[in-house]
Amino acid sequence: MTMLRALQGDITRLKVDAIVNAANSSLLGGGGVDGAIHRAAGPELLQECRSLGGCPTGQARLTHGYRLPAKFVIHTVGPVWHGGTKNEAGLLASCYRASLALAASRQLASIAFPCISTGVYGYPPEQAADVAVAAVREFLRTPRSLQEVIFCCFSASDLALYRARLAQEPA
Ligand code: ADP
Repeated sequence: MTMLRALQGDITRLKVDAIVNAANSSLLGGGGVDGAIHRAAGPELLQECRSLGGCPTGQARLTHGYRLPAKFVIHTVGPVWHGGTKNEAGLLASCYRASLALAASRQLASIAFPCISTGVYGYPPEQAADVAVAAVREFLRTPRSLQEVIFCCFSASDLALYRARLAQEPA
C-alpha cells in the first residue's frame, strides 16, 4: 500500500527520492516553484535541463537533484488554464501519471508534488486538487515501488483542499 498525504511547506526542503517541478515547456527555469527549485538545486540543474531539449505539456523528464535534499527532480509541464475546454484536466492528470511512471521506472519509494498549474498557469485550485488526487489514486491501483506520495501545499488553503479529498474514500 502506498501512503498518500498532504503537508504544507516548501518542496525544496523535502528529503524524498524525487520532488516534482511544475516547469514550463522550455525546462529552462521560471518563477514560482520552478525558480525555487533551481535556486536550491544550484546551476548544475539548469545545465542538465538544457541537455533535455524541453518537454511537451502533460509529459515529464527526470534529472538529478544536485544540492537539494531530494535525489531527483521530475520536471513536468502543466497545462495553462483556458477555462476548462482545452483538455486541461486530461493534461493535468497526465502530468501526475507521467511523473509517477518515471518514479516507478527508477524504483523510487517517495515522491512529492506541488500543486501543478495552480500558480501562474491559473488552474482553479479545487479542480486541480480533484484531478491530482484522482490521478494518483488511479495510478496506484497497480502495485508500484512507491511507498509514499506527498502533496506539498504552499498555502494553508491548498492544504485544506487536499486534506478534505484524502479523507474521502476513493470512488
Ligand atoms: P504553474 O506555472 O504550474 O502554475 P507555479 O510555480 O506558478 O506553477 O505554481 C504552482 C504551485 O506551486 C502554486 O500552488 C504555488 O503556490 C506553489 N509553490 C510556489 N513555490 C513553492 C515551493 N517552494 N514549494 C511548494 N510549492 C510552491
